Amino acid sequence: MADDCLFCKIANGDFNTDFVYENDEVVAFRDLNPQAPTHVLVIPRQHIATLNEIDAENSVIIGKMYIAAKEIAASEGLAERGYRAVMNCNADAGQSVFHIHLHLVGGKPMGWPPWP
Ligand code: AMP
Ligand code: ZN
Repeated sequence: MADDCLFCKIANGDFNTDFVYENDEVVAFRDLNPQAPTHVLVIPRQHIATLNEIDAENSVIIGKMYIAAKEIAASEGLAERGYRAVMNCNADAGQSVFHIHLHLVGGKPMGWPPWP
């Protein structure tokens, strides 16, 4: 757990956040400022600041985050209609919380590309 990391504290249960999914390594909760009817953040319990810190040793967690995302998508009724699961890295992508997270968004048609 990293000092002063909001998502470490959330994963630790410090704010009694409702988890839509949790296991020993991954937790997921609804985004405070949802950008779609479903907007869930999937995070590892392990503190990893950005995608730039992923390496051969810790990369297994990425697959586990996607397994969580597809299970949540199914439980939200999104598996067939579609959804997006994306990670922002650093300033140009708009990362604002430096503990990696997948944004699982769906429930409405989305455009591509997602930038203006
Ligand atoms: P990013 O900009 O990719 O780093 O995404 C950070 C996301 O975390 C944003 O969509 C915020 O709305 C969301 N967020 C920030 N604080 C909280 C919180 N306490 N609970 C839930 N979501 C949060
Ligand atoms: Zn953290």
